[in-house]
Amino acid sequence: MAKVKVRFAPSPTGPLHIGGARSALFNWLFARHHGGIMVLRIEDTDLDRSTREYEELILESLRWLGIDWDEGVGVGGPNGPYRQQERLHLYKPYTERLLASGHAYECFCSEEELEAERQNLIAQGKMPRYLGKCRDLSQAEKEAKRAAGIKPAIRFRVPPGKLLVVNDLVRGRVEFESDGIGDFIIVKSDGLPTYNYAVVLDDADMEITHILRGEEHLSNTPRQLLIYEALGFKVPEFAHISLILGEDRSKMSKRHGATSVVQYREDGYLPEALVNFLALLGWSPEGEEEIFSAAEIARLFSLERVSKSPAVFNLDKLKWMNSYYLKKMTPAELTQLCLPHLQKAGLVETDLTADKLSWLEQVVAAVQEKMEYAAQAPELLQIFFGDAITIDEQDEEAKAALALDTSPAVLQALLTEVKALSAWDTAQVRQILKEIGKKVGVKGKALYMTVRAAVSGRSHGPDLNELLVLLGPAVVASRLTAVLEQL
Ligand code: GLU
Repeated sequence: MAKVKVRFAPSPTGPLHIGGARSALFNWLFARHHGGIMVLRIEDTDLDRSTREYEELILESLRWLGIDWDEGVGVGGPNGPYRQQERLHLYKPYTERLLASGHAYECFCSEEELEAERQNLIAQGKMPRYLGKCRDLSQAEKEAKRAAGIKPAIRFRVPPGKLLVVNDLVRGRVEFESDGIGDFIIVKSDGLPTYNYAVVLDDADMEITHILRGEEHLSNTPRQLLIYEALGFKVPEFAHISLILGEDRSKMSKRHGATSVVQYREDGYLPEALVNFLALLGWSPEGEEEIFSAAEIARLFSLERVSKSPAVFNLDKLKWMNSYYLKKMTPAELTQLCLPHLQKAGLVETDLTADKLSWLEQVVAAVQEKMEYAAQAPELLQIFFGDAITIDEQDEEAKAALALDTSPAVLQALLTEVKALSAWDTAQVRQILKEIGKKVGVKGKALYMTVRAAVSGRSHGPDLNELLVLLGPAVVASRLTAVLEQL
């Protein structure tokens, strides 16, 4: 195989979407697997919707995911520039060639005329498409339109009765009839190329060997094939990756979870987890293993193992995967990831003392097992903050544990003990609880659940001894005092 060259070509009209990230990733995996070249091109010919801010956001998301590129925006390369807006002069000679060879023609139809034609066809139950009104205008007719100040668009003349075949590396042979495709615009009246046109000129100029992209572009491929053919370009291989669906099998949307990569980043997901998860949206390795580093996936990746059927986005699986990667972090690393969330929630201040940070790291370690993503930190850590807590009204078990006849005695005994201490460790806590149990004559839940409910307000949470140590005797004392007043 010639040296593999692939590209990711986002339109900067929004943040990087999960589907776009998966396309970028599959291209990257394919390039890295084959020791090929990854190109990053910006398709910004939609002037109304494209912005530099979105472009930067997309690049930042890619960098965060660890998807790097060898040629393209920001890094340069032999086929630049890599933004379509900066390549317009490169398209012109091809347009002239297509006009001269009769593969393209000028179209003077107005928006209103085209819309009327569309509505007419729909009303007749026919597929809306351009019927070729300007196909064969005479030179004089064209001059007259031009003299009237009408700027033409340029349309590709689709040959009738032609079978167009995409030998897709994922979907197999896919056929299209050229009769179903109306003559389509390749250059708009404002001189800007359309997606289907610029994409071909760029892919050919950049010598892209494999085009890996979302299935939503499959229906564009026959138009692109026609342009390849008209210009005598070598046709690259195509692989269209299945759509990503929500769990209810409808198209992935906000209802199924965040759709942009930045949102996952902000919520405290790790790039390793997202990459691992996205790779499995459509690709599967041999065997049952699901946890892979990007480098491992690149080593194993092949298009043969990319599925034709839609990939289903399972947020719980992503959470599970992320929690797996979170557990592998050191408490210090995880604390750094959680800090912005804790600060935003007002639980910790911005400049932490070394002591407070070290305490926070222990607190984070106590909930590390439970955490699925860092934005959960305030919720999970809340019980460690404040001198008084509120008893969770929904938590029947906690309320029941505090309502026992023996509870006041248990809590009073503990209060007496903690008042005499300035610090304690798990061994001491264990010993103290045991003695209180003996003294009051309770054990099991009546002892431990009561203490847990009184100091945390809930029936579940981190290991009780650890919780008490981390809260420290002073906070435990004030929480017990507050609860005892209510009993
Ligand atoms: N700019 C197109 C998009 O963002 C690229 C499609 C393609 O890869 O050909 O959907």
